Amino acid sequence: MTTLRIGGFTPFTTTDYPGRLAAVVFCQGCPWRCSYCHNPHLLPADGPESHAWPDLLRFLASRRGLLDAVVFSGGEPTLQGGLADAMREAKAMGFRIGLHSAGMYPQRLARVLPLIDWIGLDLKAPRAVYPRITDTSSVGEAVFDSLRLILEAGVDYELRCTWHPELLSADDLMALSNEIRHAGADRLVIQAHRPAGCGTRLPEIVASDLEQAGLDALAARFRDFSVRGGP
Ligand code: SF4
Repeated sequence: MTTLRIGGFTPFTTTDYPGRLAAVVFCQGCPWRCSYCHNPHLLPADGPESHAWPDLLRFLASRRGLLDAVVFSGGEPTLQGGLADAMREAKAMGFRIGLHSAGMYPQRLARVLPLIDWIGLDLKAPRAVYPRITDTSSVGEAVFDSLRLILEAGVDYELRCTWHPELLSADDLMALSNEIRHAGADRLVIQAHRPAGCGTRLPEIVASDLEQAGLDALAARFRDFSVRGGP
Protein backbone atom coordinates (compact mmCIF):
# COMPACT_ATOMS: atom_id res chain seq x y z
CA MET A 1 0.00 0.00 0.00
CA THR A 2 1.28 3.48 -0.89
CA THR A 3 2.34 5.58 2.06
CA LEU A 4 2.69 9.27 1.54
CA ARG A 5 2.64 11.73 4.40
CA ILE A 6 0.57 14.67 3.21
CA GLY A 7 0.52 18.05 4.93
CA GLY A 8 -1.86 19.90 2.62
CA PHE A 9 -3.89 19.66 -0.56
CA THR A 10 -5.14 22.16 -3.14
CA PRO A 11 -7.93 20.64 -5.22
CA PHE A 12 -7.71 23.12 -8.10
CA THR A 13 -5.04 25.51 -9.33
CA THR A 14 -4.12 27.12 -12.62
CA THR A 15 -0.67 28.29 -11.53
CA ASP A 16 1.28 25.23 -10.37
CA TYR A 17 1.63 23.37 -13.68
CA PRO A 18 2.14 25.62 -16.72
CA GLY A 19 -0.90 25.74 -18.95
CA ARG A 20 -2.74 22.97 -17.10
CA LEU A 21 -5.48 22.65 -14.50
CA ALA A 22 -4.00 20.79 -11.57
CA ALA A 23 -4.45 19.57 -8.03
CA VAL A 24 -1.47 19.98 -5.69
CA VAL A 25 -0.44 17.47 -3.05
CA PHE A 26 1.82 19.04 -0.41
CA CYS A 27 4.19 16.41 0.95
CA GLN A 28 5.36 16.63 4.52
CA GLY A 29 9.05 17.06 5.37
CA CYS A 30 12.10 18.97 4.14
CA PRO A 31 15.72 18.80 5.38
CA TRP A 32 16.43 22.46 4.67
CA ARG A 33 15.49 25.61 6.53
CA CYS A 34 15.37 28.44 3.99
CA SER A 35 14.54 31.65 5.80
CA TYR A 36 11.93 32.55 3.18
CA CYS A 37 10.06 29.23 3.26
CA HIS A 38 6.33 29.79 2.80
CA ASN A 39 5.40 26.35 4.14
CA PRO A 40 7.17 26.07 7.51
CA HIS A 41 4.44 23.74 8.80
CA LEU A 42 5.53 21.22 6.16
CA LEU A 43 9.17 21.07 7.25
CA PRO A 44 9.07 18.41 10.03
CA ALA A 45 8.97 14.95 8.43
CA ASP A 46 6.65 13.77 11.20
CA GLY A 47 4.37 16.82 11.04
CA PRO A 48 0.59 16.39 11.16
CA GLU A 49 -1.15 14.69 8.25
CA SER A 50 -3.90 16.72 6.63
CA HIS A 51 -5.13 14.01 4.26
CA ALA A 52 -4.73 10.30 3.69
CA TRP A 53 -3.51 9.38 0.20
CA PRO A 54 -6.34 6.84 -0.44
CA ASP A 55 -8.87 9.62 0.21
CA LEU A 56 -7.11 11.90 -2.27
CA LEU A 57 -7.05 9.11 -4.83
CA ARG A 58 -10.82 8.81 -4.51
CA PHE A 59 -11.13 12.58 -4.97
CA LEU A 60 -8.86 12.47 -8.02
CA ALA A 61 -10.94 9.67 -9.51
CA SER A 62 -13.93 12.03 -9.34
CA ARG A 63 -11.96 14.71 -11.20
CA ARG A 64 -10.96 12.70 -14.26
CA GLY A 65 -11.70 14.80 -17.31
CA LEU A 66 -11.87 17.98 -15.20
CA LEU A 67 -8.23 18.21 -14.09
CA ASP A 68 -5.18 17.68 -16.30
CA ALA A 69 -2.45 17.12 -13.75
CA VAL A 70 -1.46 16.23 -10.22
CA VAL A 71 1.51 18.18 -8.85
CA PHE A 72 3.54 16.84 -5.94
CA SER A 73 4.93 19.74 -3.95
CA GLY A 74 6.11 20.31 -0.42
CA GLY A 75 8.14 20.36 1.69
CA GLU A 76 10.38 18.16 -0.42
CA PRO A 77 8.41 15.36 -2.09
CA THR A 78 11.47 13.25 -2.96
CA LEU A 79 12.13 12.85 0.76
CA GLN A 80 9.36 10.26 0.87
CA GLY A 81 9.78 6.67 -0.24
CA GLY A 82 6.10 6.45 -1.22
CA LEU A 83 6.35 9.16 -3.87
CA ALA A 84 6.92 6.87 -6.86
CA ASP A 85 3.93 4.66 -6.05
CA ALA A 86 1.70 7.71 -5.53
CA MET A 87 2.82 9.15 -8.87
CA ARG A 88 2.20 5.82 -10.58
CA GLU A 89 -1.32 5.64 -9.15
CA ALA A 90 -2.18 9.19 -10.24
CA LYS A 91 -0.65 8.60 -13.68
CA ALA A 92 -2.68 5.41 -14.11
CA MET A 93 -5.80 7.58 -13.75
CA GLY A 94 -4.69 9.56 -16.77
CA PHE A 95 -3.27 12.62 -15.03
CA ARG A 96 -0.07 14.33 -16.02
CA ILE A 97 2.46 14.32 -13.21
CA GLY A 98 4.20 17.46 -11.99
CA LEU A 99 6.86 17.79 -9.32
CA HIS A 100 8.12 20.79 -7.37
CA SER A 101 11.53 19.97 -5.92
CA ALA A 102 14.60 21.64 -4.52
CA GLY A 103 16.66 18.82 -6.02
CA MET A 104 18.73 17.85 -2.98
CA TYR A 105 18.23 14.10 -3.57
CA PRO A 106 19.34 13.37 -7.16
CA GLN A 107 19.27 9.58 -6.75
CA ARG A 108 15.68 9.68 -5.47
CA LEU A 109 14.75 12.10 -8.23
CA ALA A 110 16.22 9.69 -10.80
CA ARG A 111 13.81 6.99 -9.60
CA VAL A 112 10.72 9.12 -10.23
CA LEU A 113 11.86 11.04 -13.31
CA PRO A 114 10.38 8.47 -15.76
CA LEU A 115 6.97 9.19 -14.22
CA ILE A 116 7.20 12.98 -14.44
CA ASP A 117 5.81 15.14 -17.25
CA TRP A 118 6.96 18.50 -15.88
CA ILE A 119 9.25 19.58 -13.05
CA GLY A 120 9.75 22.94 -11.39
CA LEU A 121 13.26 22.85 -9.90
CA ASP A 122 14.20 25.46 -7.32
CA LEU A 123 17.73 26.76 -7.76
CA LYS A 124 18.44 28.73 -4.64
CA ALA A 125 21.85 30.19 -5.35
CA PRO A 126 25.18 29.42 -6.96
CA ARG A 127 26.57 26.20 -5.43
CA ALA A 128 28.81 27.87 -2.84
CA VAL A 129 26.02 30.07 -1.45
CA TYR A 130 23.61 27.22 -0.66
CA PRO A 131 24.57 26.91 3.04
CA ARG A 132 23.67 30.55 3.61
CA ILE A 133 20.26 30.22 1.96
CA THR A 134 19.27 26.79 3.29
CA ASP A 135 20.75 27.23 6.79
CA THR A 136 22.43 23.83 6.50
CA SER A 137 25.90 22.62 5.51
CA SER A 138 24.50 21.43 2.17
CA VAL A 139 26.32 22.75 -0.83
CA GLY A 140 24.46 22.91 -4.11
CA GLU A 141 26.38 20.14 -5.86
CA ALA A 142 23.53 17.66 -5.47
CA VAL A 143 21.05 20.17 -6.92
CA PHE A 144 23.12 20.58 -10.05
CA ASP A 145 23.34 16.77 -10.31
CA SER A 146 19.54 16.82 -10.29
CA LEU A 147 19.53 19.46 -13.02
CA ARG A 148 21.83 17.30 -15.14
CA LEU A 149 19.48 14.31 -14.70
CA ILE A 150 16.47 16.40 -15.73
CA LEU A 151 18.21 17.64 -18.85
CA GLU A 152 19.42 14.15 -19.77
CA ALA A 153 15.89 12.76 -19.31
CA GLY A 154 14.42 15.42 -21.59
CA VAL A 155 11.64 16.19 -19.10
CA ASP A 156 9.94 19.55 -19.53
CA TYR A 157 11.18 21.84 -16.78
CA GLU A 158 11.19 25.25 -15.18
CA LEU A 159 14.13 26.55 -13.15
CA ARG A 160 13.21 29.16 -10.59
CA CYS A 161 15.20 31.15 -8.11
CA THR A 162 13.67 33.08 -5.21
CA TRP A 163 15.43 36.41 -5.07
CA HIS A 164 15.71 39.32 -2.68
CA PRO A 165 18.65 41.76 -2.79
CA GLU A 166 19.54 40.93 0.82
CA LEU A 167 19.64 37.21 -0.04
CA LEU A 168 21.38 37.23 -3.40
CA SER A 169 23.55 39.99 -4.86
CA ALA A 170 23.86 40.80 -8.54
CA ASP A 171 27.17 38.89 -8.49
CA ASP A 172 25.43 35.86 -6.93
CA LEU A 173 22.78 35.92 -9.66
CA MET A 174 25.41 36.16 -12.37
CA ALA A 175 27.36 33.27 -10.82
CA LEU A 176 24.15 31.23 -10.71
CA SER A 177 23.43 32.02 -14.35
CA ASN A 178 26.95 30.86 -15.27
CA GLU A 179 26.37 27.55 -13.48
CA ILE A 180 22.99 27.05 -15.14
CA ARG A 181 24.33 27.81 -18.61
CA HIS A 182 27.36 25.58 -17.98
CA ALA A 183 24.94 22.76 -17.10
CA GLY A 184 23.29 23.24 -20.50
CA ALA A 185 19.98 24.76 -19.40
CA ASP A 186 18.51 27.77 -21.17
CA ARG A 187 15.68 29.04 -19.04
CA LEU A 188 15.26 30.76 -15.70
CA VAL A 189 12.48 32.40 -13.71
CA ILE A 190 13.45 34.90 -11.02
CA GLN A 191 10.76 34.89 -8.34
CA ALA A 192 10.75 38.10 -6.34
CA HIS A 193 10.60 37.23 -2.64
CA ARG A 194 7.12 37.62 -1.12
CA PRO A 195 7.18 38.49 2.57
CA ALA A 196 3.58 37.38 3.20
CA GLY A 197 3.35 34.01 4.90
CA CYS A 198 7.03 33.52 5.68
CA GLY A 199 9.10 34.27 8.76
CA THR A 200 11.59 36.72 7.25
CA ARG A 201 11.56 40.42 7.98
CA LEU A 202 13.08 41.49 4.68
CA PRO A 203 12.01 44.87 3.28
CA GLU A 204 9.68 45.05 0.30
CA ILE A 205 11.50 44.86 -3.02
CA VAL A 206 11.33 48.18 -4.89
CA ALA A 207 11.91 49.01 -8.54
CA SER A 208 15.48 50.24 -7.95
CA ASP A 209 16.36 46.83 -6.46
CA LEU A 210 15.42 45.23 -9.76
CA GLU A 211 17.59 47.69 -11.69
CA GLN A 212 20.59 47.03 -9.45
CA ALA A 213 20.22 43.24 -9.67
CA GLY A 214 21.46 43.20 -13.26
CA LEU A 215 18.39 41.39 -14.54
CA ASP A 216 18.79 42.75 -18.08
CA ALA A 217 22.22 41.17 -18.29
CA LEU A 218 20.78 37.93 -16.93
CA ALA A 219 17.92 37.94 -19.42
CA ALA A 220 20.37 38.14 -22.31
CA ARG A 221 21.92 34.85 -21.22
CA PHE A 222 18.76 32.70 -21.48
CA ARG A 223 16.40 31.67 -24.25
CA ASP A 224 13.52 31.86 -21.74
CA PHE A 225 13.81 34.37 -18.92
CA SER A 226 11.17 36.02 -16.80
CA VAL A 227 10.67 37.76 -13.50
CA ARG A 228 7.68 36.71 -11.42
CA GLY A 229 6.20 39.03 -8.80
CA GLY A 230 7.92 42.13 -7.48
CA PRO A 231 7.04 45.82 -7.90
S1 SF4 B 1 13.71 23.77 0.28
FE1 SF4 B 1 11.64 24.60 -0.05
S2 SF4 B 1 10.34 23.56 1.47
FE2 SF4 B 1 12.47 23.27 2.11
S3 SF4 B 1 12.87 24.96 3.55
FE3 SF4 B 1 13.54 25.63 1.51
S4 SF4 B 1 11.76 26.74 0.68
FE4 SF4 B 1 11.01 25.49 2.41
